[in-house]
Amino acid sequence: MNENEMLIEEILKLKEERGALVLAHYYQRLEIQKCADFVGDSFELAKRAKEAENNLIVFCGVRFMGESAKILNPTKKVLMPRPDAGCQMADMVTASKLRELKGQYPKAAVVCYVNSSAETKAESDICCTSSNAVRVCESLDTNEIIFVPDKNLGAYVAGKLPDKMFHFYYGYCPVHRNITRDEALKAKKQHPNARLLVHPECEKEVVDLADYVGSTSGIIREAESSTAEEFIIGTEYGVVERLTEYNPGKKFYLLSPKLVCINMKYTSLINLRDCLRDEIGEIDMPEELRLKAFTPLDRMMRV
Ligand code: SF4
Repeated sequence: MNENEMLIEEILKLKEERGALVLAHYYQRLEIQKCADFVGDSFELAKRAKEAENNLIVFCGVRFMGESAKILNPTKKVLMPRPDAGCQMADMVTASKLRELKGQYPKAAVVCYVNSSAETKAESDICCTSSNAVRVCESLDTNEIIFVPDKNLGAYVAGKLPDKMFHFYYGYCPVHRNITRDEALKAKKQHPNARLLVHPECEKEVVDLADYVGSTSGIIREAESSTAEEFIIGTEYGVVERLTEYNPGKKFYLLSPKLVCINMKYTSLINLRDCLRDEIGEIDMPEELRLKAFTPLDRMMRV
C-alpha cells in the first residue's frame, strides 16, 4: 500500500467513527473526491449540506462553500480541512461595496452568486449558482437587477434575459477569465473532432466559440451523456481528472494549463485526515449574520 492509499484508508475509518458526511467540490484533487460521500458543484453541495442529518459535516472546497453549509444547516458542526482556502472572486466584492451599488440603483433586486462571503450574501435579495442563475433572475418580479460579483456570468445571464436590465460589478474568476479566444481556437485546431464545453465564468469571446456552455455539473453531464468521444474542457482541471477517471472510452483535453484553481488544490489527504481526527477547522459566524445570509440562500433553493 502506498502513502496515499494508507491515508485514504485512515480517512474512511475516521469518517465512519465520527459519523461525518464528507462533501467535496469537483475542483478538489481526485484523491479527495474519492474520500467524499458526495461530490458536486456549489448548488448540489449546498443542497446536500442543507439536507444532511449527520452531526458533523466536513467540507472540502473553498471558504464560501463551508460558510453556506453552516448558514443552511446551523445545528450541525461544519469543519473545513483548509478553512484558509479562499476564493479570489468572492474577495472582490464586500458588503460595503455592495451597499454603495444598492444606493446607486435603489429599485434593483440584488442577485448574488454564491461565490461570495456571508456578509455579501446578507446584503442580497437572492443567491444563485452558475447552474440556476438564469432561472433565479427570471423568477424575480422586478426587471432591474444588480448582479454580483461575476461580470462574465452576469453578462451570460443578461444575454438570455433581454427584457431585464442588469447592473454588473467588476468581479471575475481569475482561473476562467484568463482563458483567451486564441487558446480556444488553438485547442479546437489541435482536436478538430472534439466538442468544446465551457463554463460561463469565461470571457464572452471564449463562450461564443463553445459547443456547450454550462455549470460544472452541466459540463460533466453533457460530456458523459454525449455520443461524441472527444471533448475540450473549459473549466477547472479537477473536472478533466474526474471525467478521464470515470469515462475510460472518451478523451478529455484541458482547454488551457491555466485552468487550475490553487485554492481548490490546497486540501490534501493529510489535511482531511487531521481535520477528521482532531475535529479542527470549524466554520462559524454570529447568528445575526447567519440569519441575514440564510434568507437569500434559502430563496434560491426554493426557485
Ligand atoms: S475557480 Fe474561480 S470562482 Fe472557483 S474557487 Fe477558484 S477562484 Fe473562486
